[in-house]
Amino acid sequence: METYTLGYKFRIYPNKTQIKLIHRTLGCARFTYNHFLAVRRDEWKANHKSVTYGETSRMLTDLKKREETAWLKEIDSMALQEALKDLDRAYQNFFKLHTGYPRFKSKHAHQQSYRTRNQGNGIRIEGKRIKLPKIGFVKIKQSREWDGRVLNATVSCTASGKYFISLCVEMEKEFLLHGNEGGQIGLDVGLKFFYSDSNGKDVANPTPLRKLERKLRREQRRLSRKMPRSRNREKARIRVARVHERITNIRKDFLHQHSTELIRQNRFIAVEHLNIKGMLKNHRLAKAISDVSWGEFFRQLSYKSELYGAKLHKIDTFYPSSQTCSVCGYQNPLTKNLAVREWTCPQCGSQHKRDHNAAKNILARALAEEASTI
Ligand SMILES: [Zn+2]
Repeated sequence: METYTLGYKFRIYPNKTQIKLIHRTLGCARFTYNHFLAVRRDEWKANHKSVTYGETSRMLTDLKKREETAWLKEIDSMALQEALKDLDRAYQNFFKLHTGYPRFKSKHAHQQSYRTRNQGNGIRIEGKRIKLPKIGFVKIKQSREWDGRVLNATVSCTASGKYFISLCVEMEKEFLLHGNEGGQIGLDVGLKFFYSDSNGKDVANPTPLRKLERKLRREQRRLSRKMPRSRNREKARIRVARVHERITNIRKDFLHQHSTELIRQNRFIAVEHLNIKGMLKNHRLAKAISDVSWGEFFRQLSYKSELYGAKLHKIDTFYPSSQTCSVCGYQNPLTKNLAVREWTCPQCGSQHKRDHNAAKNILARALAEEASTI
């Protein structure tokens, strides 16, 4: 049976004892990571020898037997193993992908997290609580139901002191295929609207964001005026973090709501392959682009399309979608100017709204590309 893994993130509400336990686990996972980073680094410096994951794992067992580090025994052992795996991955990436040399983890990092694996049903949801190894049953705000097996769980604590759990769940693909209404649609992302579609609909950006962004700037200014290391500074820092979280949440809800709707209604979705990184270099556009997060939107459309049996097709960036008449194919150079919102085709007389015309072209182009590959 073909399986599929999906990530779910829920807020959890640990009690005081559980909070203490979570922070001890965070501390011990960080200790393990940093300790063996030093071991691997020193061994290389002294003897030019690479210490493997297996060796660090055996050394960890020895550490637990020693009196001065016996406290490691009280901690969820999977969390420590996962820290060793993370460290090993950081080294692999360093050697293979030439990313930077692994760095020590700081306890002052903005977000702290540890990952643990599900062994013998040690992680499971019962009613409104989730069982976590060594932590016990923690209250969870669960907004979705699923039928699957939890592979691993990441417990995280945000800068404003909220706790979350991200679960990696394995499911059988058959259960995931939901109904799909079978439409076809082209999307043109823009600066005026989040996107315009080939059916003539415009979807605006979420409006509360502007207001919250002003609030964020205000709180950041306040924070910068506080005395370093004062209580008031800490309070101001938490206020800034809260506004950040609200902005992120509103944006996320907006993206999920629209990507799900599109995927439910359409079996074929056409978009332009955006070179978002290239566009971000243009500062005038940068703010708007990071606001609307098209990259994340396309990512969601892509993974949801698998779940709903739909197809997301990205067309070539250099196709002049906004300059071509979607009725007769005439290419109108005047529409290169972004200020031209509406135009009449000089060849066939069709009247076009810029973005809807572009969306129709994107759909037609994608269907043609799709047909030529079969
Ligand atoms: Zn025309």
